[in-house]
Amino acid sequence: MVCAMSAIAQAAVPDAQGHFGRYGGRYVPETLMHPLKELEEEYFRSQHDPEFQRELQYYLREFCGRPTPLYLAERLTKDLGGARIYLKREDLLHTGAHKINNAIGQILLARRMGKTRIIAETGAGQHGVATATVSAMFGLKCVIYMGEVDCERQALNVYRMKMLGADVVPVTAGQKTLKEAVNEAMRDWVTNVRNTHYILGTAYGAHPYPVMVRNFQRIIGDEARRQILEQEERLPDLLIACVGGGSNAIGLFYPFLEDASVQMIGVEAGGEGIQPEKHAARFQGGSLGVLQGTRSYILQDENGQIQLTHSVSAGLDYAAVGPEHAWLRDQSRVEYSYATDAEALQAFMKLARLEGIIPALESSHAVAEVIKRAPRLRKDQVVIVNLSGRGDKDVSQVASKVKL
Ligand SMILES: *Cc1c(COP(=O)(O)O)cnc(C)c1O
Repeated sequence: MVCAMSAIAQAAVPDAQGHFGRYGGRYVPETLMHPLKELEEEYFRSQHDPEFQRELQYYLREFCGRPTPLYLAERLTKDLGGARIYLKREDLLHTGAHKINNAIGQILLARRMGKTRIIAETGAGQHGVATATVSAMFGLKCVIYMGEVDCERQALNVYRMKMLGADVVPVTAGQKTLKEAVNEAMRDWVTNVRNTHYILGTAYGAHPYPVMVRNFQRIIGDEARRQILEQEERLPDLLIACVGGGSNAIGLFYPFLEDASVQMIGVEAGGEGIQPEKHAARFQGGSLGVLQGTRSYILQDENGQIQLTHSVSAGLDYAAVGPEHAWLRDQSRVEYSYATDAEALQAFMKLARLEGIIPALESSHAVAEVIKRAPRLRKDQVVIVNLSGRGDKDVSQVASKVKL
């Protein structure tokens, strides 16, 4: 562990081409190289621009509702009988999840670059809603690509995006879900790049997206670190977050990576169990490959065809994981586990009943992990669970599965 730590501290990660070790990079058609370079340059310039940082802090505070509380879950702690459990309350943010942290950052960047049109992909609709929200707030035209199957499953979010003034384009290719929506968004970007910015929703894709999205989400961990030092006067022993593309997890983990005493667990979607096409746990049964601009762990067959995935939570239901997570796993810095649909549903109900908080089904995977871990920890140990979003969007899904 000590070795892995100093390697992390020393290596420039990602490197100038966006590589996290053997992961990451920029695997895109020639026509996208220029826009990605333009975005990269503008992004790194903005990072050192106090005016941009002031503006970002202003909207995070006044529009999104930051900082979010770090809440001691007393009844859950007592029920599990082990470590003290804190919840990082990203569920309290405007639009109900951490995604707005990234959407607001990227739209400020788009404005800086003089772009007048915003596009995005969405699976469950959460990133689409966050993007439509910030587009409305700044009066920019917004087009959201969404698989036709997802449009049906998440009809309410489609309507929300439309209310916010966005055009929602149903994508009918292939499996008609998130992967195809990303392809369609990339095609649009190639065609309209002069006036259009593509707000990618997670720590995935071609450089600079993984590093940029991580940096927009690291506010979660920066706040949590400050808050736990205030409340407990020490660092946590364990951090737990769910991992779809990986943005809420890396956002929490990143500011703690060099604290050797802090353990971290990323929780993937175990679906109906680890069998082909029944889950979305890329570190269980996935392999190295390239998908949608980056090199990472991917669920694919022997011929490199992307496998079907399944999770009760649409936000974790994706065949690939962000490259930085693959790298952190190789370093043994972060451990990756999974929770099944059934475990996530149980966790969902438990948090509702014990704490009066209805978590997103995605976040429920992280709660499921703390339910397994906390009883084995000492009472003086401290765990932070990232509550990435709220579960209002999931109520009808849960109602179809849990009889009350
Ligand atoms: C989208 C989403 C996720 C998964 O995305 P990450 O990029 O892995 O964070 C997790 N939780 C919620 C509430 C989401 O909306």
